[in-house]
Amino acid sequence: MSKDNSISRKAFLGKISMLGLAGAGAGVFLKGCGNGEEATEAADPCADLSGLSESDIQLRETLQYVAETPNPQERCDNCEYWIDDQHGPQCGGCTLFAGPVHPAGWCVSWVPES
Ligand code: SF4
Repeated sequence: MSKDNSISRKAFLGKISMLGLAGAGAGVFLKGCGNGEEATEAADPCADLSGLSESDIQLRETLQYVAETPNPQERCDNCEYWIDDQHGPQCGGCTLFAGPVHPAGWCVSWVPES
């Protein structure tokens, strides 16, 4: 499936720079609370972040990516930025950041595919 994304990754990163600190702070806060993230990652076939840079991981956190969407109608696999099967048959990718993405995942940048 070919997708024509209207903004470049660089432009997008510029637009979200104001959210970066707030998102990073939220990620650190949630980790510090022991919110069960470890258990979720153990069951998530798309949780292998080895090979990603710190900035790649930071961007995932800034966008508040989660492997299980809080809203079943908004999933990674029906998002404009979804890349099918980019990381094997179980995991796709996202045009906004590096690394595997769960089809049932979600982040704050979700937009319906066109
Ligand atoms: S919901 Fe977020 S992480 Fe998932 S494909 Fe869309 S932009 Fe990427």
